[in-house]
Amino acid sequence: MIKKGTKLYSIVHLKCPKCQEANLFTDPNPYHLKKVLDMPPYCPVCRQDFIMEPGFYSGALWISYPFVVFILIPLAVIQVIYFKFPLLLAFFISLLIMLVLQPLIMRYSRAIWINIFVKYDSDKMWLDDF
Ligand SMILES: [Zn+2]
Repeated sequence: MIKKGTKLYSIVHLKCPKCQEANLFTDPNPYHLKKVLDMPPYCPVCRQDFIMEPGFYSGALWISYPFVVFILIPLAVIQVIYFKFPLLLAFFISLLIMLVLQPLIMRYSRAIWINIFVKYDSDKMWLDDF
């Protein structure tokens, strides 16, 4: 169980980094591919801006790249060493798994990215705005 108030909580649960109440993404199912990256423009609970500037999430690509490397390579290595799969087969299976994981990677990359810039607000000062 991850404690609320930590960045990890916001990332794992894909919650608003500021209040950790509202969801970052409109559709909870990442496999509704048309809506995979749909986010509300701001948090419906604390009004935190989710898209702080145009192209804000292009930086999230720098997060998703290591994800791919750190998942794809160990996956291929396990298949070759443990299951004795030929390298090419292992590569294609890994690629297939990455394709399946891609919507999740894209979402978690965005969650990590916004968490770099937005802090958790434990004071709930935003409640005063209503
Ligand atoms: Zn919020």
